[in-house]
Amino acid sequence: MQQQYIEEAEKALLHTYNRYPIVWERGEGVHLYDLEGKEYLDFVAGIAVFALGYRNKEYNDALKEQIDKIIHTSNYYYNVPAVEAAKKMKDVSGMDRVFFTNSGAEAVEGAIKAARKYAYLKDGRTDHEIIAMNHSFHGRTFGALSVTGNPKYREAFEPMIGNVKFAEMNDFDSVKALVNDRTCAIIFETVQGEGGIYPAEKEFMEQVKSLCGEKDILLILDEIQCGMGRTGSMYAWQRYGVKPDIMTTAKALGCGIPVGAFLMTERVAEHSLASGDHGTTYGGNPLAAAAICKVLELFGKNHILEHVNEVAPYLEKRLDTLMEKYDFIKARRGAGLMQGLVFDRPVADIINRALENGLVLINAGTDIIRFVPPLIITEADVDVMVERLERSF
Ligand SMILES: *Cc1c(COP(=O)(O)O)cnc(C)c1O
Repeated sequence: MQQQYIEEAEKALLHTYNRYPIVWERGEGVHLYDLEGKEYLDFVAGIAVFALGYRNKEYNDALKEQIDKIIHTSNYYYNVPAVEAAKKMKDVSGMDRVFFTNSGAEAVEGAIKAARKYAYLKDGRTDHEIIAMNHSFHGRTFGALSVTGNPKYREAFEPMIGNVKFAEMNDFDSVKALVNDRTCAIIFETVQGEGGIYPAEKEFMEQVKSLCGEKDILLILDEIQCGMGRTGSMYAWQRYGVKPDIMTTAKALGCGIPVGAFLMTERVAEHSLASGDHGTTYGGNPLAAAAICKVLELFGKNHILEHVNEVAPYLEKRLDTLMEKYDFIKARRGAGLMQGLVFDRPVADIINRALENGLVLINAGTDIIRFVPPLIITEADVDVMVERLERSF
């Protein structure tokens, strides 16, 4: 039965993914089940999305309730869930203004537009530059792709939006060398995800922030993957005490309902996007906003951050032990429940064997296995993961 769906999918869907030969049917907590009823331990969470685990009753009930009230209205009107979601997001982020989007890439688009408008209002020029990082990933739309520091994703689609320069993450001099009077923004992920799980260093964050302050350049932090509790604070930058001017968030924000947002400080909001400058039909509709409200409520109620901080050191310890034991594992990098093991070879075979052994893993680049499990995993789940992973080597 599974094979039939796979064959049909390959005839009907555009071939933009090399999919693993599994058809998911349902999820329960940190486990997934395929069409044949086989159980898997999930250390991917839909790529850092399903933070609260599958089939969370309170979350599901909240969505069902909202569906029966109203699913969509236009952003030309107000709706209660969007107001509540925006207030909650301000609380947890310390940012001042929220714009809801449908995805991460769209949040990055909005952030770029806000930064360009901010600079435009200052000097009226239309040739502003953005500094982004090598190995970064910000999404697949043109603006987001333009600041993505991986030529493989960009090349066939050139020209990009232009006036983007790439520096090296954690190399402040490489950033400084690119700054000029046209620089309007510096964008990076607080912890790089797709590019190989590289956390920003505190000193780098502080130096960039201070440079931005000096030159009135906007600091944009992409928290789409590393935010929402993944590294043990609600947003990863909060652990560094380096606050961005604009921040993007998505993935776990809706825990499965497609929603993202970009947020900014009041200072940027007052001097950037104004009425008519930006919009979206779906962004922050009542269903999406109800999802955000419930997710943020459950983060508090279920002490998700505290839990991440408790379980993450155990995951790190177990991964470090693997690294010591097997000489084909070169390094471990990451923060909280966003970890990467660096291998001396491509990891595709290991990931395929792990699936056979009932463990869902994903790569970040060809030679890194990425661990971004639901945030509710326990030490016992980590033990099972390590056991199934070792069997897959
Ligand atoms: C996933 C991701 C994006 C893109 O989000 P989409 O919802 O897929 O558009 C952007 N930035 C980072 C850091 C991401 O991990």
